[in-house]
Amino acid sequence: MDKLLEREVTYVKGVGPKKAELFEKLGIKTVYDLLQYCPRDYVDLSKPTYIKDTMPGAEEQVVLRARVAAKLPPSHIRKGMTICKAVFTDDTDDITVTLFNQEYLFSSLKEGEDYVLYGKITGNMLRREMNSPAVFPANSPDLIIPVYPLTAGLTQNALRGAVKNALDLIEDKIEDTMPRAVRERCCLCTQAYAWENVHFPRTLDGAHEARRRLIFDELLIYSLAVGYNRIMDTNLNSYPLPPRSLEDFRKSLPFELTKAQMRAIGQIVTGMNGKQRMNRLLQGDVGSGKTVVAAAAAYFVHMSGFGTNNFVQSCVMAPTEILASQHYKTFCRLLEPLGMKIGLLTGSLTPKNKREVQEAAQRGELDCVVGTHALFSENSGFKNLALVITDEQHRFGVEQRAALAAKGGNPHRLVMTATPIPRTLALIFYGDLEISVLDEMPKGRKPISTYAVTGELRERAYGFVKKQLDMGHQGYIVCPAVDENEADLIDATSYYETLSGGVFKDYRLGLLHGKLPAAEKEDVMERFKAGDIDLLVSTTVIEVGVDVPNATIMFIENADRFGLSQLHQLRGRVGRGDSESYCVLISDNRSQDNIRRMKTISSTTDGFRIAEEDLRLRGPGDFFGTNQHGLPAFKIADLTRDIRLLEEAQKLSKEILDEDPTLEKPDHAVMKELVKRLTEKGAEMT
Ligand code: ADP
Ligand code: MG
Repeated sequence: MDKLLEREVTYVKGVGPKKAELFEKLGIKTVYDLLQYCPRDYVDLSKPTYIKDTMPGAEEQVVLRARVAAKLPPSHIRKGMTICKAVFTDDTDDITVTLFNQEYLFSSLKEGEDYVLYGKITGNMLRREMNSPAVFPANSPDLIIPVYPLTAGLTQNALRGAVKNALDLIEDKIEDTMPRAVRERCCLCTQAYAWENVHFPRTLDGAHEARRRLIFDELLIYSLAVGYNRIMDTNLNSYPLPPRSLEDFRKSLPFELTKAQMRAIGQIVTGMNGKQRMNRLLQGDVGSGKTVVAAAAAYFVHMSGFGTNNFVQSCVMAPTEILASQHYKTFCRLLEPLGMKIGLLTGSLTPKNKREVQEAAQRGELDCVVGTHALFSENSGFKNLALVITDEQHRFGVEQRAALAAKGGNPHRLVMTATPIPRTLALIFYGDLEISVLDEMPKGRKPISTYAVTGELRERAYGFVKKQLDMGHQGYIVCPAVDENEADLIDATSYYETLSGGVFKDYRLGLLHGKLPAAEKEDVMERFKAGDIDLLVSTTVIEVGVDVPNATIMFIENADRFGLSQLHQLRGRVGRGDSESYCVLISDNRSQDNIRRMKTISSTTDGFRIAEEDLRLRGPGDFFGTNQHGLPAFKIADLTRDIRLLEEAQKLSKEILDEDPTLEKPDHAVMKELVKRLTEKGAEMT
C-alpha cells in the first residue's frame, strides 16, 4: 500500500496531536483510516419537501427549499440573547423560522431569495415553525452534507476539514487497492472516486456508490483473510492418530447410528490422521445426535493411544453448567464401560475438587474431561491433550476461541453447533473450519406440532398442557427472563408462583433461572430428569442441549421476544422421545413481521430454513438471541443491511483464492497486505 496512506494522521494539514487523540478514539490512526472513515448518514439538501406536506411535531428533520417572504424585526429578550424571525414560503405554504443568537446569519438573508433549510418542524398545521435550522444558500455547491459519527470534543466541521485536507494531500497519486479487473467484475467504482464521493458527494447516488465500494472492500478483505488463513494454516498435525476400529463403541450403543452420524465420525477420524491439525465444525439441528458423534471422537482419541505409552486425552467444553454435567453423564454412560476415565470440571466445584480434577488431568489419569469455561482457566493443563470438543460454540466469544487456540500443544478441534447457520454467516463465523453436517434425524422421531396463539387462548392452552401432564409426560414453560423490569414481560419467579398456586396447583412444578446458585439449578434439573417435576418453569437457561425424552410440551410466553432460531432451539427440548410432542407459542404482538415469524416457525421444523428467514427478517445481530458474541466488528459494513454484499464479496474472494491461493500475483499485493494487517489486528486483540 502507498506509503502516504500509511502515514500517521498528524501528517494531514490541520491535525495536531490533540485532534489525533480524538481521532484515535474513532479508530483513526493513519491517513488511510481517515479516508476510510464513513459518514453514518447524509442530508440531501437537493430533495426538499413542500411545506404543506410537513408534519409539525414529527421526529425526523426535513429539508425545505423556500424564499424569504418577510424578515421580522429582531427582538432582544435579554442581554446577550437575540431572537430573529423570518417568514419563508415555497408557494405551498408559509413557515416561521426562528434563529437564536444568529444575527449574522439573519442579516445575510435576503428577502425574495431562495434558501435551503434543514431541521425539525414544530408549531401546528395552521402555523408551522422551525427553530434554528441549518440554513444553506440554494445555490450552495454542496447539496449533500455527510453526518459522521463523532466523539466528544470533535465537530462535524473539524472532521470534514481534516478529510478534505487528506484528499488534497493524496490528490490522485494513489494506486487503487483493488485491481482493475476485480473492480470491473463487481461493478465497483475506483477508490479515488469512492473517497471523494463518500465524503463530498454531489449526489446521493454517488455517495451510495462510493459507500458500496468501501463496504465491499471491508467485506472482501475479511472474506479473503478467512480463506487465506485457512489455506496458510501451518498448524501441522501434532497428534496424527492412526486409524482404530470403533466397532466396540458402535456395538455398545442402544441404537443404530444414522448414516449422517457415521459419515461425520468418518470425517473426524480421517481428519485427525491428516497432515494438518483437524479443525472441524459439526453442524446439526437440535436432536440430530451430535453428542454421540463427539463421544465417538473422544473414544477414538483414547483408542489411538491405547497400548502405547502415549496416552492421549480429549476434553469437552460446554457453555453452561447444566449442559456440562449432562454431557459428563452421557460420556460416562457411553465411555466408562469401554474403559475410559471421565472427569468433570465446572466453576461450582469446591477449589479442592477442582484442583483434584485438574491434577488428575495433568498427570494424564483422566482420558477425557468435560467442563465449562473453568476448563480453560490458567492452571487447567493436560498431559497430552489431542482433541478439544466445544459444544454450542457461538456462546463462546471469538476472544475465548482465540484464547483456546493459543493454548499449547496444538490439539485437534471439533466444534459443535445446534444453530443451523445460513451459509453466508457460517463462512464468517467458522470460515476457518471444515464442516460436517448431520442432515438426518435419528429414526422414529415424531415431528413437533407448533401452535402460535394470542394471550386470549392462554387458559385453553394451559388445559392442553395439563392433558400432556396427565398422560404422564412432562413439560416446559419458558418466559423471557428473570427479574425483567418491563411490565408486560412475564417474570419467571412470579409466574411460577402464580401457576403453582393456581392452574397447576395439582402438579409438581419446578423453577429454573440463571440467577439460581449452580447447585440449585443442577438439583432442579436432576429432579426434572428423574421425573420428580412435572412442569418446569424456566428462562432460556434450558435453551441449549438439555435432553429429557419424556418432555412432550413446550409452552413459550412472549414468543415475539425471541429470535426464530432461538425459538427453534427451545422447541428442540421436546420431541426427543417417541411420543407426539407439541409447542405452544404465546404472543400478543400483532405486527405483520411477528405474524410472519410465527407462521414460519409453526409451519416448518427445518432449522436451516428458519435460520435463513431469521437472518432475512432480523439480521444477524438478533440471530443468536441477545448474545452477539462472535460477530466480527466491521467498521463500515453492517450485516443487517449488507448481507447481499457479503455474499458477493465471499464469491469474489473464493474466485480470487482459487486462482491465486497464496495471493502471490503482483495485482493482489495490496490486498494481501490488507489481509495480513487484518489478521495481525485480530491477533493483537486477543
Ligand atoms: P443434539 O444433536 O441436539 O445434541 P443429542 O446428541 O442430545 O442431540 O441427541 C438427542 C437424543 O437422540 C439423545 O437422547 C440421543 O441418545 C439420541 N440419539 C442420538 N443418536 C441416535 C440414533 N442414531 N438413533 C436413535 N437415537 C439417537
Ligand atoms: Mg447437544
